[in-house]
Amino acid sequence: MRSFADQLIAWHSKSGRHHLPWQQTKDPYAIWVSEIMLQQTQVVTVIKYYQRFIKKFPTLQTLAYADEEEVMKLWSGLGYYRRARFLYGGAQMIMNEMGGKFPSDFEMMMQIPGIGRSSAGAIAAFAFNQKKAILDGNVKRVLARYFLITQWTGLPKIEKKLWDFAESLLPAKKIDTYTQALMDLGATLCNKTPQCHLCPLKKTCLAFLQNKVQLVPIPKPKKKIPTKTAEMFIIKHHDEILVVKQSQGGIWGGLWSLPQFERKAMTAQTWIKKYFGLDTWLIKKNLKASTTFTHYKLKIIYSIFEAKSQHAKSPHSWLSLSSIEGSATPAIIKKILLKL
Ligand code: SF4
Repeated sequence: MRSFADQLIAWHSKSGRHHLPWQQTKDPYAIWVSEIMLQQTQVVTVIKYYQRFIKKFPTLQTLAYADEEEVMKLWSGLGYYRRARFLYGGAQMIMNEMGGKFPSDFEMMMQIPGIGRSSAGAIAAFAFNQKKAILDGNVKRVLARYFLITQWTGLPKIEKKLWDFAESLLPAKKIDTYTQALMDLGATLCNKTPQCHLCPLKKTCLAFLQNKVQLVPIPKPKKKIPTKTAEMFIIKHHDEILVVKQSQGGIWGGLWSLPQFERKAMTAQTWIKKYFGLDTWLIKKNLKASTTFTHYKLKIIYSIFEAKSQHAKSPHSWLSLSSIEGSATPAIIKKILLKL
């Protein structure tokens, strides 16, 4: 019987994906960009962002010397903005500390912010044909089913076991095709609604043979996430909105967002006057929006004010309504502003 890898490679030549934009290159920089974008986002969403990003920053150098604002703008809407900062900081690190060339050394790759073992494995396999394993979410699911792992794959001991399996299955040749095939199988056949009848591994897949495909992978034990509430203001002047840059380190670090009201025993308008020096009148109050992050749910209560002028103090900027779509603004804030 053909090996796991041989079956996947053969399947990929007929049924795998061959036209993804990052498959058309061996440039480690471009592959790195795609890997970081794909870390928490699906392929269909990533394609457009990847193409725009590579068009704007075609090389490591162009990214390293770019304006951070431009980088964040191109990431806007993709979420998990830390990834954009990792890419930007990583490009500068490679230029300043690694001789200006994307490293082919696996350990060095993992020193770059945002590159973990699986992303390094993918870059090593795709760009440098190195025999390295990957273990992203799709691959975890495939291996958990194939080897019938009946514990949550996030447990350290199970993760270690999966890495061992992933390493043991690597082929001696065609590592790039194999890696892509494994990703493709997880994304197209061995997904939430598995199509085992089309799968090249069905004769040896334990979950399939024991009729337990729907039970594996075991879901993460549920933990209730807390809700945080933030009170924000839309301060507009005709069709321009006052925005403030978020400090680095926060969830929206480097992005432009709405002023957040720190309730200090004063009314909203007094606070706006004190903080921005603006006279305003209230248009609407206590509107609601919400979004969910990995660790908490954010409930936003916001009010809309019209300012009498744009002569504001404190660091800020005015954003025109027509430029919101392409601005470096968090997705939920963009959604709120686009309703105006
Ligand atoms: S047989 Fe089904 S469960 Fe097993 S690897 Fe293939 S698609 Fe996944």
